[in-house]
Amino acid sequence: MQITVDDIQKFGINDFLGKDFECKCGKIHSVKLDNLIIEEGAIEKLPMVLKNFGYKNVFLVADNNTYDAAGREVEKILISAGFFIEKLIYERAYELVPDEVAIGEFLVSYNKKMEVILTVGSGVLNDISKYMSFMLDIPSIVVATAPSMDGYASSISALMLKDTKISVQSTPPKAIIGDIDILRKAPMDMILAGFGDMLGKYSALRDWKLANIVIGEYYCDVVKNMIELSVNRCAAEVNLLAKRDGDAVGHLMEGLMIVGIAMSFVGNSRPASGAEHHMSHFWELSFLMEGRKAIPHGIKVGIATFIINNIANKFIEMDIDFENIGDDLKILDRDKWKNEINRVYKKAAPEILSLNDGNIDDMVEDRKSRQIVIRDNWEDIVHVIREFPDADKIQMLLKRAGIPIRPQDVGIDREMVQDAILYAKELRQKYTILQLLGDMGLLKYFAYMDGLY
Ligand SMILES: [Zn+2]
Ligand SMILES: [Zn+2]
Repeated sequence: MQITVDDIQKFGINDFLGKDFECKCGKIHSVKLDNLIIEEGAIEKLPMVLKNFGYKNVFLVADNNTYDAAGREVEKILISAGFFIEKLIYERAYELVPDEVAIGEFLVSYNKKMEVILTVGSGVLNDISKYMSFMLDIPSIVVATAPSMDGYASSISALMLKDTKISVQSTPPKAIIGDIDILRKAPMDMILAGFGDMLGKYSALRDWKLANIVIGEYYCDVVKNMIELSVNRCAAEVNLLAKRDGDAVGHLMEGLMIVGIAMSFVGNSRPASGAEHHMSHFWELSFLMEGRKAIPHGIKVGIATFIINNIANKFIEMDIDFENIGDDLKILDRDKWKNEINRVYKKAAPEILSLNDGNIDDMVEDRKSRQIVIRDNWEDIVHVIREFPDADKIQMLLKRAGIPIRPQDVGIDREMVQDAILYAKELRQKYTILQLLGDMGLLKYFAYMDGLY
């Protein structure tokens, strides 16, 4: 089936499933997700979904919170429909951590007769179940309990092994059930986190197009539009979302799912994550190393989106002299850079250094050639940055949702913001506006600028 930007406007979320789309970008887009139900009372359809797959023996996985929120009800529905249930309910006084203990508990509770893992939860539980689904080679289905993140359908899980956060290969669920009656009762900070993560797509999509212009990275307009339409709808409904309105919560969940589908279409996280996510990951790592309680992912992404959009807006207003770009770019002082990486990344520094291990002369040469591309495409770059909401609009949306706007409101101090602007880009090999500013010798200028946030 052919797909174009115009088609996308008419698509409902289920139209994206179970097909191969021949796209004008040259790729065939498809997603490995069989079933997605987002509606009020969706858990009533669970027996039918399980029957269609032919499963009878169900291993239900939840924690004490999600069992209360939805697990008990799901169990009741399935038992009265004649299913055989065994369950693992993680009992935790604080947050569940996806570590060796949680994986061990899963293994000792699991019995080989079980045909499917039924996860009742959101981020962490989903991470554990998708990983176990991969390791034990049995399918999983998830009943989502919060519209808090875009990773429900991703094939990567984030685990905490040996006290370090790592990404591992996982098997995405075969079906995702989003019952709006359950989702709208989720803790408000989880709903807001989902909204913040969605707002971050404005920055991620801009970075994707910039990478397309500057380094010729693959880009698809259809996928970009899929995501943009969803974010725009969530942004338009922000006041309703703050009141837990069912339609707004449902559309947020749909938006997060569409982002997940978009990532499958492209084969990586490019359309969903850019500089705003790198800054968020950087802060997450800093908090982890200092033993501080984590801030919800989407809240950090929302704050970073505001800062990075403010930088982008100010950047295109500058009068840039392309003939005299910063002297520090002519020689890269590798030792100085290494010291800085050791200072900000501490025990994670060796990994970051090896990820960025390039020949220094190549780096200088590459940078020079990118500066020429940036100069020659300056009008397009300005146009791309203007195309997305500016910092004022992002600030207004965060305020209306009730998300803190200033990093200091959530305990991220000035130095952590400066270091994120300067060194968060080293976390991933991905071209974003932070790399672009680095190419232009402007990172320090923005990192130490007053009145940015
Ligand atoms: Zn495409
Ligand atoms: Zn995210």
